[in-house]
Amino acid sequence: MEKILVTRSSMPTLSEYMEEISDIWDSRWMTNMGYHYKKLTEELEEYLKTENLTLLVNGHAALELSIQALGLKGEVITTPFTFASTTHAIVRNGLEPVFCDINADDYTIDVTKIEKLITDKTTAILPVHVYGNICDIEAISDVAKKYGLKVIYDAAHSFGESYKGKGIAEYGDVSIFSFHATKVFNTIEGGAAAYKDANIGAELRKLMNFGIKDEERIDGVGCNAKMNEFSAAMGVCNLRHVSVEIDKRKKVVERYLERLSGIKGLKLPNYSRIENPNYGYFPVVIDERYFGKNRNKVFDDLKNKNIYTRKYFYPLTNTFECFRGKYNSKSTPVAEQISQRVICLPMYADLNEADIDRVANALLEGR
Ligand SMILES: *Cc1c(COP(=O)(O)O)cnc(C)c1O
Repeated sequence: MEKILVTRSSMPTLSEYMEEISDIWDSRWMTNMGYHYKKLTEELEEYLKTENLTLLVNGHAALELSIQALGLKGEVITTPFTFASTTHAIVRNGLEPVFCDINADDYTIDVTKIEKLITDKTTAILPVHVYGNICDIEAISDVAKKYGLKVIYDAAHSFGESYKGKGIAEYGDVSIFSFHATKVFNTIEGGAAAYKDANIGAELRKLMNFGIKDEERIDGVGCNAKMNEFSAAMGVCNLRHVSVEIDKRKKVVERYLERLSGIKGLKLPNYSRIENPNYGYFPVVIDERYFGKNRNKVFDDLKNKNIYTRKYFYPLTNTFECFRGKYNSKSTPVAEQISQRVICLPMYADLNEADIDRVANALLEGR
């Protein structure tokens, strides 16, 4: 049986990409905010319905440098139910992550638990629109206002989604996106930060280029996090097709739901609460008591049939080896339970019905 991988990158045709990059052989401008960088910036601002976007080398750099650009200190409230990047961006800035639990229904930060975690050292909240599920933005904004905190959204999973008619990029002081090859929209590697305050943009553009302000002035301890022209050109091509890709993902979701709805012990994703879901992930939470198999067994069964899923997000970031003795998952019991039970099924635009059925059959077999 052929391998089914958890994801498969979207790509334009080779000829479309070659056409897009051909001018680079004339200009010899391969990086440092060239033609394609500017073109993609403008096109993404339109697609994401935001006026202030800076492209970076990857989503992690967007997050790490946004924290630096905001000048955060002390403690940042976040969730452990996320990709390593979210927590590492805080720690690599010399800040302390404070882990808040998540909701059992959509896995975003549990806003009723944020206030108790605020101390006089707290400077920001860093929630995640996990699997494209939008956080309780109003509640987060209220508590941030009350305590004078900044808000940075890790919007890596919510490309192109909106909330109350506005682009998701419009919320928080900063929202960051990832354009990694495995994401709904990719630039091979890449990412972006969206922000309201133009000063943050100026700071980001400086920090992503070694802190260079002008030819003779370096006034920030920056790094190198610029998106190159080949990545930007890939983005320009992929953006032409992203709506079609999302429609195809929707079809995949519909077939999964057809096959798996109503099965006892399976909690399926609920896209109906998202205004325009991008269908990036298909997370299933398995309750062994009703389903008859636990998550690890399902993972192994599928793997034995050459179907590759992800225990995404397991382990929780607050249980990583590199944080042993510092943080643990006791304070985030809901996240702990979900991370033991969740599995992300193969999910990409070109996943065909026969393959979806193969995944569903393997999942349901042997209970
Ligand atoms: C992918 C991802 C990132 C990091 O993005 P990269 O572009 O891979 O650096 C950050 N947060 C979340 C939730 C992600 O899924």
